[in-house]
Amino acid sequence: MSEVRHLVLVLGDQLDHASAAFDCFDPGRDRVLMIEAAGESTHVWSHKARTALFLSAMRHFADALRGRGWTVDYRALGDGDSEELVDILAARLRRHAPCKLVLVEPGEWRLERAIRALCERERVALDLRDDLHFMISRTGFADWAKKYRQPRMEFFYRMMRERHGVLMDGDEPAGGRWNFDADNRSGFGRKGPGLVPPPLRFEPDAITREVIAEVEVRFADHPGSTADFDWPVTREQALAALADFVSHRLELFGHHQDAMWTGQPWLWHARLSAAMNLKLLSPREVVAAAVSAWRERGLPLQSVEGFVRQVIGWREFIRGMYWLDMPRMRDANHYGHARALPRWYWTGDTGMNCMRAAIGQTLRHGYAHHIQRLMVTGQFALLAEIAPQQVEDWYLAVYVDAVEWVELPNVAGMALYADGGRFTSKPYVASGAYIQRMSNYCDGCRYTPSARSGEAACPVTVLYWHFLDRHEAEFAANPRTALMAKNLQKLAPAERTAISERAKQMLDGLDDL
Ligand code: FAD
Ligand code: SF4
Repeated sequence: MSEVRHLVLVLGDQLDHASAAFDCFDPGRDRVLMIEAAGESTHVWSHKARTALFLSAMRHFADALRGRGWTVDYRALGDGDSEELVDILAARLRRHAPCKLVLVEPGEWRLERAIRALCERERVALDLRDDLHFMISRTGFADWAKKYRQPRMEFFYRMMRERHGVLMDGDEPAGGRWNFDADNRSGFGRKGPGLVPPPLRFEPDAITREVIAEVEVRFADHPGSTADFDWPVTREQALAALADFVSHRLELFGHHQDAMWTGQPWLWHARLSAAMNLKLLSPREVVAAAVSAWRERGLPLQSVEGFVRQVIGWREFIRGMYWLDMPRMRDANHYGHARALPRWYWTGDTGMNCMRAAIGQTLRHGYAHHIQRLMVTGQFALLAEIAPQQVEDWYLAVYVDAVEWVELPNVAGMALYADGGRFTSKPYVASGAYIQRMSNYCDGCRYTPSARSGEAACPVTVLYWHFLDRHEAEFAANPRTALMAKNLQKLAPAERTAISERAKQMLDGLDDL
Protein backbone atom coordinates (compact mmCIF):
# COMPACT_ATOMS: atom_id res chain seq x y z
CA MET A 1 0.00 0.00 0.00
CA SER A 2 1.43 3.36 -1.07
CA GLU A 3 2.11 5.99 1.56
CA VAL A 4 1.11 8.84 -0.72
CA ARG A 5 -2.55 8.85 -1.70
CA HIS A 6 -2.62 11.77 -4.19
CA LEU A 7 0.40 13.34 -5.77
CA VAL A 8 -0.89 16.77 -6.81
CA LEU A 9 1.18 18.24 -9.62
CA VAL A 10 1.04 22.04 -9.81
CA LEU A 11 2.51 23.40 -13.03
CA GLY A 12 4.19 26.80 -13.32
CA ASP A 13 1.08 28.46 -14.78
CA GLN A 14 -1.33 26.89 -12.25
CA LEU A 15 -0.62 29.02 -9.18
CA ASP A 16 -4.26 29.15 -8.15
CA HIS A 17 -5.06 28.75 -4.46
CA ALA A 18 -8.64 27.83 -5.38
CA SER A 19 -7.50 25.24 -7.93
CA ALA A 20 -9.65 22.15 -8.44
CA ALA A 21 -6.45 20.14 -7.94
CA PHE A 22 -6.73 20.93 -4.22
CA ASP A 23 -10.33 19.71 -3.84
CA CYS A 24 -10.35 17.09 -1.04
CA PHE A 25 -6.63 17.63 -0.40
CA ASP A 26 -5.64 15.76 2.74
CA PRO A 27 -2.36 17.13 4.13
CA GLY A 28 -1.84 13.87 6.02
CA ARG A 29 -1.92 11.64 2.95
CA ASP A 30 -1.34 13.87 -0.08
CA ARG A 31 1.71 15.71 -1.45
CA VAL A 32 2.07 18.67 -3.76
CA LEU A 33 4.71 18.34 -6.46
CA MET A 34 6.18 21.37 -8.20
CA ILE A 35 8.89 21.09 -10.85
CA GLU A 36 11.32 23.63 -12.24
CA ALA A 37 12.63 22.20 -15.51
CA ALA A 38 15.14 24.08 -17.65
CA GLY A 39 13.67 22.30 -20.68
CA GLU A 40 10.58 24.53 -20.36
CA SER A 41 12.81 27.59 -20.93
CA THR A 42 14.90 26.08 -23.69
CA HIS A 43 12.51 24.20 -25.99
CA VAL A 44 11.70 27.73 -27.09
CA TRP A 45 14.44 30.22 -26.35
CA SER A 46 12.65 31.94 -23.48
CA HIS A 47 13.13 35.62 -22.48
CA LYS A 48 15.03 35.87 -19.20
CA ALA A 49 12.24 37.88 -17.57
CA ARG A 50 9.67 35.24 -18.58
CA THR A 51 11.70 32.47 -16.97
CA ALA A 52 12.35 34.62 -13.88
CA LEU A 53 8.65 35.42 -13.52
CA PHE A 54 7.55 31.79 -13.66
CA LEU A 55 10.25 30.60 -11.24
CA SER A 56 9.78 33.39 -8.73
CA ALA A 57 5.99 33.03 -8.73
CA MET A 58 6.35 29.24 -8.31
CA ARG A 59 8.72 29.59 -5.35
CA HIS A 60 6.42 32.10 -3.65
CA PHE A 61 3.44 29.82 -4.25
CA ALA A 62 5.24 26.80 -2.81
CA ASP A 63 6.06 28.85 0.31
CA ALA A 64 2.41 29.83 0.65
CA LEU A 65 1.33 26.16 0.44
CA ARG A 66 3.93 25.16 3.04
CA GLY A 67 2.49 27.97 5.18
CA ARG A 68 -0.78 26.01 5.14
CA GLY A 69 1.10 23.09 6.63
CA TRP A 70 1.14 21.11 3.38
CA THR A 71 4.09 19.04 2.20
CA VAL A 72 5.51 20.30 -1.07
CA ASP A 73 8.07 18.29 -2.99
CA TYR A 74 9.74 21.17 -4.83
CA ARG A 75 12.21 20.20 -7.50
CA ALA A 76 14.50 23.18 -8.18
CA LEU A 77 16.47 23.82 -11.39
CA GLY A 78 19.54 21.64 -11.81
CA ASP A 79 18.52 19.28 -9.02
CA GLY A 80 19.10 15.92 -10.77
CA ASP A 81 19.99 14.48 -14.14
CA SER A 82 17.30 15.41 -16.58
CA GLU A 83 15.95 18.92 -17.19
CA GLU A 84 12.83 17.68 -19.01
CA LEU A 85 9.61 18.06 -17.08
CA VAL A 86 8.17 14.70 -18.08
CA ASP A 87 11.37 12.80 -17.16
CA ILE A 88 11.45 14.48 -13.76
CA LEU A 89 7.78 13.68 -13.23
CA ALA A 90 8.43 10.03 -14.14
CA ALA A 91 11.16 9.80 -11.49
CA ARG A 92 8.88 11.42 -8.88
CA LEU A 93 6.04 9.01 -9.69
CA ARG A 94 8.41 6.12 -9.03
CA ARG A 95 9.70 7.70 -5.82
CA HIS A 96 6.28 8.55 -4.31
CA ALA A 97 4.32 5.66 -5.89
CA PRO A 98 1.03 7.53 -5.40
CA CYS A 99 -2.38 5.93 -5.88
CA LYS A 100 -3.21 8.77 -8.22
CA LEU A 101 -1.61 11.69 -10.00
CA VAL A 102 -3.93 14.69 -9.67
CA LEU A 103 -3.63 17.75 -11.82
CA VAL A 104 -5.62 20.45 -13.49
CA GLU A 105 -5.60 20.33 -17.29
CA PRO A 106 -2.35 21.96 -18.53
CA GLY A 107 -2.24 24.98 -20.83
CA GLU A 108 -0.39 23.07 -23.51
CA TRP A 109 -1.61 20.27 -25.75
CA ARG A 110 1.86 18.68 -26.03
CA LEU A 111 2.30 18.49 -22.27
CA GLU A 112 -1.15 17.04 -21.65
CA ARG A 113 -0.46 14.29 -24.18
CA ALA A 114 2.93 13.57 -22.67
CA ILE A 115 1.52 13.33 -19.12
CA ARG A 116 -1.30 11.02 -20.25
CA ALA A 117 1.20 8.79 -22.04
CA LEU A 118 3.51 8.74 -19.02
CA CYS A 119 0.74 7.72 -16.64
CA GLU A 120 -0.23 4.89 -18.97
CA ARG A 121 3.37 3.73 -19.19
CA GLU A 122 3.89 3.92 -15.43
CA ARG A 123 0.43 2.50 -14.72
CA VAL A 124 -0.51 5.41 -12.48
CA ALA A 125 -4.14 6.53 -12.36
CA LEU A 126 -4.48 10.07 -13.71
CA ASP A 127 -7.13 12.41 -12.29
CA LEU A 128 -7.14 15.31 -14.75
CA ARG A 129 -9.50 18.03 -13.51
CA ASP A 130 -11.20 20.94 -15.30
CA ASP A 131 -9.44 24.26 -14.93
CA LEU A 132 -12.10 26.21 -13.04
CA HIS A 133 -10.08 29.41 -13.44
CA PHE A 134 -11.77 29.78 -16.82
CA MET A 135 -15.37 30.86 -17.14
CA ILE A 136 -16.25 28.18 -19.67
CA SER A 137 -14.92 24.63 -19.78
CA ARG A 138 -13.25 23.07 -22.81
CA THR A 139 -16.28 20.88 -23.45
CA GLY A 140 -18.68 23.78 -22.85
CA PHE A 141 -16.86 25.77 -25.51
CA ALA A 142 -16.83 22.85 -27.94
CA ASP A 143 -20.61 22.46 -27.48
CA TRP A 144 -21.14 26.15 -28.20
CA ALA A 145 -18.80 26.12 -31.23
CA LYS A 146 -20.58 23.11 -32.81
CA LYS A 147 -23.35 25.44 -33.95
CA TYR A 148 -21.03 27.48 -36.14
CA ARG A 149 -19.06 26.73 -39.28
CA GLN A 150 -16.79 29.65 -38.40
CA PRO A 151 -16.97 30.43 -34.67
CA ARG A 152 -16.93 34.17 -34.09
CA MET A 153 -15.80 35.93 -30.93
CA GLU A 154 -18.66 38.45 -31.02
CA PHE A 155 -21.39 35.79 -30.69
CA PHE A 156 -19.42 33.94 -28.05
CA TYR A 157 -18.96 37.17 -26.10
CA ARG A 158 -22.69 37.94 -26.10
CA MET A 159 -23.44 34.43 -24.88
CA MET A 160 -20.88 34.85 -22.06
CA ARG A 161 -22.29 38.23 -21.03
CA GLU A 162 -25.78 36.73 -20.82
CA ARG A 163 -24.67 33.51 -19.14
CA HIS A 164 -22.64 35.29 -16.46
CA GLY A 165 -24.91 38.34 -16.18
CA VAL A 166 -22.03 40.76 -16.86
CA LEU A 167 -22.96 44.34 -17.89
CA MET A 168 -26.58 43.36 -18.47
CA ASP A 169 -29.75 45.40 -17.92
CA GLY A 170 -32.23 42.56 -17.67
CA ASP A 171 -32.05 40.86 -21.07
CA GLU A 172 -30.40 43.84 -22.76
CA PRO A 173 -26.73 44.86 -22.81
CA ALA A 174 -25.96 47.81 -20.53
CA GLY A 175 -25.98 51.06 -22.51
CA GLY A 176 -28.04 49.42 -25.29
CA ARG A 177 -25.01 48.10 -27.22
CA TRP A 178 -22.99 44.93 -26.92
CA ASN A 179 -19.83 46.43 -28.25
CA PHE A 180 -18.18 49.86 -28.16
CA ASP A 181 -15.26 48.72 -30.31
CA ALA A 182 -15.74 51.52 -32.83
CA ASP A 183 -15.05 54.03 -29.99
CA ASN A 184 -11.83 52.27 -28.95
CA ARG A 185 -9.62 53.21 -31.86
CA SER A 186 -8.45 56.78 -31.25
CA GLY A 187 -4.82 57.67 -31.85
CA PHE A 188 -3.21 60.44 -29.80
CA GLY A 189 -2.74 63.07 -32.50
CA ARG A 190 0.42 65.19 -32.62
CA LYS A 191 0.29 66.08 -28.92
CA GLY A 192 0.80 62.51 -27.80
CA PRO A 193 -0.68 60.76 -24.80
CA GLY A 194 0.13 63.45 -22.22
CA LEU A 195 0.64 62.33 -18.65
CA VAL A 196 -0.03 58.62 -18.20
CA PRO A 197 -0.25 57.30 -14.62
CA PRO A 198 2.70 54.90 -14.26
CA PRO A 199 1.71 51.39 -13.21
CA LEU A 200 2.51 50.13 -9.73
CA ARG A 201 5.97 48.56 -9.66
CA PHE A 202 6.87 45.50 -7.61
CA GLU A 203 10.50 45.69 -6.57
CA PRO A 204 12.08 42.21 -6.57
CA ASP A 205 12.21 40.72 -3.07
CA ALA A 206 14.90 38.27 -1.86
CA ILE A 207 13.32 35.27 -3.64
CA THR A 208 12.99 37.14 -6.92
CA ARG A 209 16.51 38.54 -6.69
CA GLU A 210 17.86 35.04 -6.16
CA VAL A 211 15.89 33.73 -9.14
CA ILE A 212 17.10 36.57 -11.35
CA ALA A 213 20.72 35.88 -10.39
CA GLU A 214 20.24 32.21 -11.25
CA VAL A 215 18.56 32.97 -14.56
CA GLU A 216 21.35 35.38 -15.51
CA VAL A 217 23.87 32.55 -15.03
CA ARG A 218 21.96 29.53 -16.37
CA PHE A 219 20.32 31.27 -19.30
CA ALA A 220 23.01 33.86 -19.97
CA ASP A 221 22.65 33.67 -23.76
CA HIS A 222 18.83 33.93 -23.73
CA PRO A 223 17.13 37.04 -25.08
CA GLY A 224 15.77 39.90 -23.02
CA SER A 225 16.71 41.69 -19.86
CA THR A 226 15.79 41.32 -16.19
CA ALA A 227 17.14 44.77 -15.25
CA ASP A 228 13.64 46.34 -15.06
CA PHE A 229 11.86 43.28 -13.66
CA ASP A 230 8.90 44.52 -11.62
CA TRP A 231 6.10 42.03 -12.31
CA PRO A 232 3.71 40.87 -9.56
CA VAL A 233 4.80 37.42 -8.36
CA THR A 234 2.32 36.73 -5.53
CA ARG A 235 -1.44 36.79 -5.21
CA GLU A 236 -1.24 39.85 -2.93
CA GLN A 237 0.84 41.73 -5.48
CA ALA A 238 -1.46 40.65 -8.31
CA LEU A 239 -4.48 42.01 -6.40
CA ALA A 240 -2.59 45.29 -5.84
CA ALA A 241 -1.82 45.47 -9.58
CA LEU A 242 -5.52 44.96 -10.36
CA ALA A 243 -6.58 47.69 -7.90
CA ASP A 244 -3.97 50.04 -9.38
CA PHE A 245 -5.24 49.48 -12.94
CA VAL A 246 -8.90 49.92 -12.00
CA SER A 247 -8.13 53.08 -9.96
CA HIS A 248 -5.81 54.81 -12.40
CA ARG A 249 -5.89 53.50 -15.95
CA LEU A 250 -9.19 51.77 -16.68
CA GLU A 251 -10.97 55.10 -17.18
CA LEU A 252 -9.05 55.84 -20.38
CA PHE A 253 -8.34 52.22 -21.38
CA GLY A 254 -11.09 52.19 -24.00
CA HIS A 255 -10.29 55.45 -25.79
CA HIS A 256 -6.72 54.61 -26.71
CA GLN A 257 -6.67 50.82 -26.68
CA ASP A 258 -5.07 50.68 -30.14
CA ALA A 259 -2.70 53.67 -29.90
CA MET A 260 1.11 53.44 -29.56
CA TRP A 261 3.77 55.93 -28.50
CA THR A 262 7.56 55.81 -28.29
CA GLY A 263 8.85 55.26 -24.74
CA GLN A 264 5.35 54.48 -23.40
CA PRO A 265 5.07 50.70 -23.17
CA TRP A 266 2.08 50.56 -20.83
CA LEU A 267 -0.15 53.53 -21.67
CA TRP A 268 -3.60 52.74 -20.20
CA HIS A 269 -3.27 48.97 -20.51
CA ALA A 270 -3.92 46.64 -17.60
CA ARG A 271 -0.57 44.80 -17.47
CA LEU A 272 -2.52 41.94 -15.89
CA SER A 273 -2.17 39.17 -18.48
CA ALA A 274 0.86 37.55 -16.83
CA ALA A 275 -0.78 37.47 -13.39
CA MET A 276 -3.96 36.06 -14.92
CA ASN A 277 -2.13 33.45 -16.98
CA LEU A 278 -0.18 32.28 -13.94
CA LYS A 279 -3.65 32.06 -12.27
CA LEU A 280 -2.73 34.50 -9.51
CA LEU A 281 -5.88 36.39 -10.52
CA SER A 282 -9.15 34.97 -11.75
CA PRO A 283 -11.02 36.49 -14.70
CA ARG A 284 -14.17 36.65 -12.54
CA GLU A 285 -12.57 38.94 -9.96
CA VAL A 286 -10.91 41.06 -12.64
CA VAL A 287 -14.22 41.59 -14.43
CA ALA A 288 -16.08 42.19 -11.13
CA ALA A 289 -13.57 44.91 -10.18
CA ALA A 290 -14.02 46.68 -13.54
CA VAL A 291 -17.83 46.44 -13.46
CA SER A 292 -18.05 47.77 -9.92
CA ALA A 293 -15.85 50.74 -10.92
CA TRP A 294 -18.44 51.49 -13.62
CA ARG A 295 -21.41 51.16 -11.26
CA GLU A 296 -19.90 52.84 -8.21
CA ARG A 297 -17.50 55.38 -9.67
CA GLY A 298 -19.25 56.05 -12.94
CA LEU A 299 -16.27 55.02 -15.12
CA PRO A 300 -17.12 55.25 -18.84
CA LEU A 301 -18.98 52.22 -20.16
CA GLN A 302 -16.89 52.41 -23.34
CA SER A 303 -13.74 51.62 -21.31
CA VAL A 304 -15.29 49.08 -18.98
CA GLU A 305 -17.04 47.20 -21.80
CA GLY A 306 -13.84 47.26 -23.88
CA PHE A 307 -11.92 45.69 -21.02
CA VAL A 308 -14.62 43.13 -20.16
CA ARG A 309 -14.71 42.10 -23.85
CA GLN A 310 -10.99 41.34 -23.79
CA VAL A 311 -11.28 39.18 -20.69
CA ILE A 312 -14.53 37.22 -20.97
CA GLY A 313 -14.65 37.54 -24.75
CA TRP A 314 -11.26 37.24 -26.39
CA ARG A 315 -9.35 35.46 -23.64
CA GLU A 316 -11.93 32.70 -23.13
CA PHE A 317 -12.68 32.41 -26.84
CA ILE A 318 -9.00 32.07 -27.75
CA ARG A 319 -8.56 29.28 -25.21
CA GLY A 320 -11.60 27.45 -26.53
CA MET A 321 -10.28 27.66 -30.10
CA TYR A 322 -6.87 26.38 -29.04
CA TRP A 323 -8.28 23.16 -27.60
CA LEU A 324 -10.75 22.79 -30.44
CA ASP A 325 -8.12 23.10 -33.19
CA MET A 326 -4.96 21.53 -31.77
CA PRO A 327 -2.78 20.02 -33.11
CA ARG A 328 -3.66 21.28 -36.59
CA MET A 329 -3.42 24.89 -35.41
CA ARG A 330 0.31 24.48 -34.85
CA ASP A 331 0.88 23.12 -38.38
CA ALA A 332 -1.37 25.60 -40.19
CA ASN A 333 0.24 27.58 -43.01
CA HIS A 334 -2.51 28.93 -45.28
CA TYR A 335 -0.14 30.96 -47.46
CA GLY A 336 2.68 28.40 -47.51
CA HIS A 337 5.13 30.93 -46.07
CA ALA A 338 8.66 29.63 -45.50
CA ARG A 339 11.08 32.54 -44.98
CA ALA A 340 13.30 32.71 -41.90
CA LEU A 341 12.54 35.17 -39.10
CA PRO A 342 14.82 38.20 -39.57
CA ARG A 343 17.66 38.18 -37.03
CA TRP A 344 16.66 41.58 -35.65
CA TYR A 345 13.49 40.10 -34.10
CA TRP A 346 15.91 38.97 -31.37
CA THR A 347 17.78 42.29 -31.02
CA GLY A 348 15.53 45.12 -32.21
CA ASP A 349 18.43 46.27 -34.37
CA THR A 350 16.54 47.45 -37.46
CA GLY A 351 16.09 50.77 -39.24
CA MET A 352 12.29 50.44 -39.03
CA ASN A 353 11.32 52.63 -36.06
CA CYS A 354 8.03 50.83 -35.41
CA MET A 355 9.71 47.44 -35.19
CA ARG A 356 12.62 48.81 -33.17
CA ALA A 357 10.21 50.33 -30.63
CA ALA A 358 7.97 47.27 -30.29
CA ILE A 359 10.83 44.77 -30.16
CA GLY A 360 12.97 47.02 -27.97
CA GLN A 361 10.33 47.26 -25.24
CA THR A 362 9.62 43.55 -25.62
CA LEU A 363 13.25 42.68 -24.91
CA ARG A 364 13.39 45.16 -22.05
CA HIS A 365 10.13 44.27 -20.30
CA GLY A 366 8.78 41.09 -21.91
CA TYR A 367 5.73 43.16 -22.80
CA ALA A 368 4.04 44.79 -25.78
CA HIS A 369 0.37 45.63 -25.99
CA HIS A 370 -2.12 44.03 -28.33
CA ILE A 371 -1.80 46.35 -31.33
CA GLN A 372 1.99 46.28 -31.18
CA ARG A 373 1.84 42.46 -31.26
CA LEU A 374 -0.87 42.34 -33.94
CA MET A 375 -0.17 45.27 -36.27
CA VAL A 376 3.56 45.81 -35.83
CA THR A 377 5.53 42.61 -35.20
CA GLY A 378 2.70 40.28 -36.22
CA GLN A 379 1.58 41.87 -39.45
CA PHE A 380 5.19 42.43 -40.55
CA ALA A 381 5.89 38.72 -40.13
CA LEU A 382 2.82 37.98 -42.28
CA LEU A 383 3.74 40.50 -44.99
CA ALA A 384 7.36 39.30 -44.97
CA GLU A 385 6.22 35.70 -45.58
CA ILE A 386 7.86 34.26 -42.48
CA ALA A 387 7.21 30.58 -41.69
CA PRO A 388 4.39 30.59 -39.07
CA GLN A 389 6.17 28.12 -36.76
CA GLN A 390 9.17 30.46 -36.47
CA VAL A 391 6.91 33.37 -35.61
CA GLU A 392 4.98 31.29 -33.08
CA ASP A 393 8.19 30.24 -31.35
CA TRP A 394 9.28 33.87 -31.13
CA TYR A 395 6.01 34.96 -29.50
CA LEU A 396 6.11 32.07 -27.05
CA ALA A 397 9.68 33.01 -26.14
CA VAL A 398 9.58 36.76 -25.65
CA TYR A 399 6.44 37.69 -23.67
CA VAL A 400 6.13 37.22 -19.92
CA ASP A 401 2.46 36.30 -20.38
CA ALA A 402 3.13 33.68 -23.07
CA VAL A 403 1.53 30.27 -22.55
CA GLU A 404 0.69 28.23 -25.61
CA TRP A 405 -3.11 28.16 -25.19
CA VAL A 406 -3.22 31.95 -25.54
CA GLU A 407 -0.12 32.66 -27.64
CA LEU A 408 -0.73 30.21 -30.49
CA PRO A 409 -4.29 31.16 -31.52
CA ASN A 410 -3.36 34.84 -31.34
CA VAL A 411 -0.36 34.30 -33.58
CA ALA A 412 -1.53 31.61 -35.99
CA GLY A 413 -5.18 32.73 -36.08
CA MET A 414 -5.15 36.49 -35.62
CA ALA A 415 -1.76 37.82 -36.66
CA LEU A 416 -0.76 35.41 -39.44
CA TYR A 417 -4.12 34.11 -40.78
CA ALA A 418 -2.22 30.83 -40.96
CA ASP A 419 -5.46 28.92 -40.40
CA GLY A 420 -7.10 30.58 -43.41
CA GLY A 421 -9.71 32.42 -41.34
CA ARG A 422 -10.96 29.76 -38.95
CA PHE A 423 -12.19 32.44 -36.52
CA THR A 424 -11.27 35.77 -38.12
CA SER A 425 -13.02 37.21 -41.14
CA LYS A 426 -9.91 38.60 -42.87
CA PRO A 427 -6.14 38.90 -42.57
CA TYR A 428 -5.16 41.91 -40.43
CA VAL A 429 -3.00 43.88 -42.84
CA ALA A 430 -2.50 47.60 -43.34
CA SER A 431 0.08 49.88 -44.90
CA GLY A 432 2.50 52.12 -43.00
CA ALA A 433 -0.24 54.79 -43.01
CA TYR A 434 -2.03 52.85 -40.26
CA ILE A 435 1.08 52.82 -38.05
CA GLN A 436 1.57 56.53 -38.78
CA ARG A 437 -2.02 57.27 -37.68
CA MET A 438 -1.86 55.19 -34.50
CA SER A 439 1.62 56.16 -33.25
CA ASN A 440 4.54 58.56 -33.54
CA TYR A 441 6.86 55.80 -34.77
CA CYS A 442 7.13 57.16 -38.32
CA ASP A 443 8.54 60.51 -37.11
CA GLY A 444 12.26 60.35 -37.71
CA CYS A 445 12.14 56.85 -39.23
CA ARG A 446 14.65 56.12 -41.99
CA TYR A 447 11.64 55.21 -44.18
CA THR A 448 8.63 57.22 -45.38
CA PRO A 449 5.26 55.60 -44.64
CA SER A 450 3.54 56.84 -47.80
CA ALA A 451 6.37 55.83 -50.16
CA ARG A 452 5.70 52.63 -52.13
CA SER A 453 8.87 52.60 -54.16
CA GLY A 454 12.39 54.01 -54.13
CA GLU A 455 15.07 53.93 -51.45
CA ALA A 456 12.93 55.55 -48.71
CA ALA A 457 9.95 53.28 -49.36
CA CYS A 458 8.46 52.00 -46.11
CA PRO A 459 8.84 48.21 -45.92
CA VAL A 460 5.42 47.87 -44.28
CA THR A 461 3.80 49.79 -47.14
CA VAL A 462 5.71 48.06 -49.93
CA LEU A 463 5.13 44.59 -48.54
CA TYR A 464 1.47 45.40 -47.88
CA TRP A 465 0.84 46.26 -51.55
CA HIS A 466 2.90 43.29 -52.65
CA PHE A 467 0.81 41.04 -50.40
CA LEU A 468 -2.41 42.41 -51.94
CA ASP A 469 -0.93 41.87 -55.38
CA ARG A 470 -0.08 38.23 -54.63
CA HIS A 471 -3.48 37.49 -53.08
CA GLU A 472 -5.66 39.78 -55.16
CA ALA A 473 -8.25 37.15 -56.05
CA GLU A 474 -8.71 36.06 -52.42
CA PHE A 475 -9.01 39.67 -51.25
CA ALA A 476 -11.47 40.54 -54.04
CA ALA A 477 -13.69 37.56 -53.16
CA ASN A 478 -13.99 38.49 -49.46
CA PRO A 479 -16.50 41.31 -48.78
CA ARG A 480 -14.34 42.42 -45.80
CA THR A 481 -11.27 42.97 -48.01
CA ALA A 482 -12.80 43.69 -51.43
CA LEU A 483 -12.13 47.41 -51.04
CA MET A 484 -8.40 46.74 -50.61
CA ALA A 485 -8.41 44.78 -53.86
CA LYS A 486 -10.26 47.65 -55.58
CA ASN A 487 -7.63 50.13 -54.38
CA LEU A 488 -4.93 47.87 -55.75
CA GLN A 489 -6.67 47.80 -59.12
CA LYS A 490 -6.50 51.61 -59.23
CA LEU A 491 -2.69 51.49 -59.39
CA ALA A 492 -1.09 51.86 -62.82
CA PRO A 493 0.54 48.65 -64.11
CA ALA A 494 3.98 50.33 -64.04
CA GLU A 495 3.55 51.17 -60.34
CA ARG A 496 2.48 47.62 -59.56
CA THR A 497 5.60 46.34 -61.25
CA ALA A 498 7.80 48.82 -59.36
CA ILE A 499 6.25 47.75 -56.04
CA SER A 500 6.81 44.08 -56.84
CA GLU A 501 10.43 44.67 -57.70
CA ARG A 502 11.11 46.68 -54.54
CA ALA A 503 9.25 44.08 -52.47
CA LYS A 504 11.38 41.28 -53.90
CA GLN A 505 14.57 43.18 -52.99
CA MET A 506 13.27 43.68 -49.47
CA LEU A 507 12.19 40.07 -49.06
CA ASP A 508 15.59 38.90 -50.22
CA GLY A 509 17.32 41.17 -47.70
CA LEU A 510 15.02 41.11 -44.67
CA ASP A 511 17.96 41.02 -42.27
CA ASP A 512 19.16 44.37 -43.61
CA LEU A 513 15.96 46.40 -43.24
P1 FAD B 1 -4.88 44.78 -21.93
O1 FAD B 1 -4.69 45.34 -23.27
O2 FAD B 1 -5.01 45.75 -20.84
O3 FAD B 1 -6.14 43.80 -21.98
C1 FAD B 1 -6.75 43.30 -20.80
C2 FAD B 1 -6.72 41.80 -20.72
O4 FAD B 1 -7.49 41.23 -21.75
C3 FAD B 1 -5.34 41.18 -20.87
O5 FAD B 1 -4.63 41.18 -19.64
C4 FAD B 1 -5.64 39.77 -21.37
O6 FAD B 1 -5.84 38.90 -20.30
C5 FAD B 1 -6.95 39.95 -22.11
N1 FAD B 1 -6.75 39.96 -23.57
C6 FAD B 1 -6.75 41.02 -24.38
N2 FAD B 1 -6.62 40.64 -25.67
C7 FAD B 1 -6.50 39.30 -25.66
C8 FAD B 1 -6.33 38.33 -26.68
N3 FAD B 1 -6.26 38.64 -27.98
N4 FAD B 1 -6.22 37.05 -26.29
C9 FAD B 1 -6.29 36.68 -24.99
N5 FAD B 1 -6.46 37.58 -23.99
C10 FAD B 1 -6.58 38.86 -24.32
N6 FAD B 1 -1.90 37.43 -24.51
C11 FAD B 1 -1.38 36.64 -23.57
O7 FAD B 1 -1.87 36.66 -22.43
N7 FAD B 1 -0.34 35.80 -23.83
C12 FAD B 1 0.23 35.74 -25.07
O8 FAD B 1 1.17 34.99 -25.27
C13 FAD B 1 -0.29 36.58 -26.09
N8 FAD B 1 0.24 36.57 -27.34
C14 FAD B 1 -0.29 37.37 -28.30
C15 FAD B 1 0.25 37.33 -29.60
C16 FAD B 1 -0.29 38.11 -30.60
C17 FAD B 1 0.25 38.03 -32.00
C18 FAD B 1 -1.37 38.96 -30.32
C19 FAD B 1 -1.99 39.80 -31.39
C20 FAD B 1 -1.91 39.03 -29.04
C21 FAD B 1 -1.38 38.23 -28.01
N9 FAD B 1 -1.91 38.26 -26.72
C22 FAD B 1 -1.38 37.43 -25.76
C23 FAD B 1 -3.08 39.09 -26.40
C24 FAD B 1 -2.76 40.49 -25.86
O9 FAD B 1 -1.84 41.14 -26.69
C25 FAD B 1 -2.23 40.47 -24.43
O10 FAD B 1 -3.11 39.72 -23.62
C26 FAD B 1 -2.16 41.87 -23.86
O11 FAD B 1 -1.36 42.69 -24.66
C27 FAD B 1 -1.61 41.79 -22.44
O12 FAD B 1 -1.39 43.06 -21.90
P2 FAD B 1 -2.37 43.72 -20.82
O13 FAD B 1 -2.54 42.83 -19.66
O14 FAD B 1 -1.85 45.10 -20.56
O15 FAD B 1 -3.72 43.73 -21.63
FE1 SF4 C 1 7.37 51.67 -39.53
FE2 SF4 C 1 7.25 52.46 -42.08
FE3 SF4 C 1 6.55 54.13 -40.14
FE4 SF4 C 1 9.12 53.44 -40.45
S1 SF4 C 1 7.84 54.58 -41.89
S2 SF4 C 1 7.98 53.55 -38.53
S3 SF4 C 1 8.92 51.33 -41.12
S4 SF4 C 1 5.52 52.22 -40.68
